[in-house]
Amino acid sequence: MVAMASSGTLSGERLMRDVRMIAQWERLSGSPEERQAFAYIERELRAAKVRTRMLEHPALISLPRRASFRLVPSGEDLPCITHSFAVAARDLEAPLVYVRDGADPAKIDLAGRIAVTDGLAMPGRVAQLQHAHAAGAVFLNRDPLVHEMIVSTVWGSPTPDRTAQLPTIPVVSMAGPPARRLREVLDHGGSVGRISTEVETSWRTLPLLVADLPGEREDTYVLLAGHVDSWYVGAMDNGGANAAMMEIARLLVRSKRYRGLRLAFWSGHSHGRYAGSTWYADTHWDDLDRYCAAHLYIDSIGGRGATLLTSGYCMPETKAVGEAAIKRIAGQKYEGTRVGRSGDQSFLGIGIPSLFMTLSEHPKDGPDASRDFAITGTDTGGLGWWWHTPEDTPDKLDPVILSRDTGIYFEAIRTLCTEPVLPLDYTATTAALIVQLRDLETRLGDRFDLSSCLEEARGLERATKAIRAKVRKIGVGRWRHVEQVNTALMRLSRTLIPVLYTRAGRFDQDPATSIPLLPPLAEAERLAGAAAGASEAHSATVALTRGRNRLVQALRKAREIAEEAAE
Ligand SMILES: [Zn+2]
Repeated sequence: MVAMASSGTLSGERLMRDVRMIAQWERLSGSPEERQAFAYIERELRAAKVRTRMLEHPALISLPRRASFRLVPSGEDLPCITHSFAVAARDLEAPLVYVRDGADPAKIDLAGRIAVTDGLAMPGRVAQLQHAHAAGAVFLNRDPLVHEMIVSTVWGSPTPDRTAQLPTIPVVSMAGPPARRLREVLDHGGSVGRISTEVETSWRTLPLLVADLPGEREDTYVLLAGHVDSWYVGAMDNGGANAAMMEIARLLVRSKRYRGLRLAFWSGHSHGRYAGSTWYADTHWDDLDRYCAAHLYIDSIGGRGATLLTSGYCMPETKAVGEAAIKRIAGQKYEGTRVGRSGDQSFLGIGIPSLFMTLSEHPKDGPDASRDFAITGTDTGGLGWWWHTPEDTPDKLDPVILSRDTGIYFEAIRTLCTEPVLPLDYTATTAALIVQLRDLETRLGDRFDLSSCLEEARGLERATKAIRAKVRKIGVGRWRHVEQVNTALMRLSRTLIPVLYTRAGRFDQDPATSIPLLPPLAEAERLAGAAAGASEAHSATVALTRGRNRLVQALRKAREIAEEAAE
């Protein structure tokens, strides 16, 4: 049990009861079973005297149904599954080509062939294979059980233009003995495969549950969000997180809060590429822009053996809150990973500071580590071998770890909701930015001038330090000064985050692929690597000049906001 100052006690037993309740339903997005889970959560929140609203919205949802893979001409069948947003195919027969780890698909002749590759069916990898004109793709997982995946990079339900970016090839995955058998066949070369897939992709109506614990002083709120939809019964992903959200609401409803807490339960995460959170971001853009102070995402917590707490998402401005919560509850040192393009991070365009996505992971060599997570860029055992499989059942959660993880979220949320001055450290953001700009300046030498960006960044750093000094001097109860600083901190986030974390800007969504550091200057690497005078160098300079304008303009605006607030 984790004792929570002045807010009652977090109960591991209650958490596990909620996990078992939610995990009795296979929660495909838009299904009647998922509705039952939403109804359960709403009932529990109402019983705890929390105000709820059930919303509905349309979304493009893709449910994988059946798949088969046959070796030709032997007729040997290798069991497999297909994926959300892969296309349906009937008897696609083509030669097989093994694209080994580290190989660049663009340099292999894949035209009209079926590409076979190791690891998880990640959307970026599928896009590469498709771009190399592969007719289909087979992923050989390394874990004992095959992982369900969503293979589209299109974030949320597609606009008319984005519809063209949905995958156009059939994709299947296999694991265990079938994967071993196919690797063995490919080592001998010259084989042909036949793929059939059924995937049901259509617009459906999804539920979306919002719950509010209003603040006492400000109309602003902290958003704690997680998905309810699941693969199979999804006890860890995401029953554990849903249980934590309910428990945090039960504990916090009784305590005093300077600002509010809004809980949001999404559907469409697993089968609609974050369709729920994206719809909410689009539809409630203005409210989020004006009032949402920070976003915490919660996913796949409480896993048995998930002892590592070092690498959850953060931004420099939110890191200290995460660090303090992890140290207080678990005594671990938090390093943090830069917020990336996964896990319902649908609010970066609006400019909402973000903390956490997944929190606890397995050590790389732990007994329950996943061997398929390496492709995601993490150097850990990920979320366990059962993630996205029928084995994600309640026994995969450890009540002690689930209580610990819930306690960490509770602690971070309590800090964000109760501290009058928002604990967002923009001096840390600015310091990190200056380091990145200086690194780029060194890389580029005299090929591109970044001095205007650095000058504005240094001015912003001075102004954010002045805000911090002012905050130290604000006396208790001087609410007008507190509100003024908070307004400035939120305006700073709206100005800086869209430029530092998106290419698409404030009103659109980038695809679910990695976003480089300093997106406006993403072409700097290309310029650094191109021969002077080469056409690539010229076109990279065009992009960099536009990016520099975007960055300088945002930094100047941020500096002015900070200088005004520091007065
Ligand atoms: Zn999840």
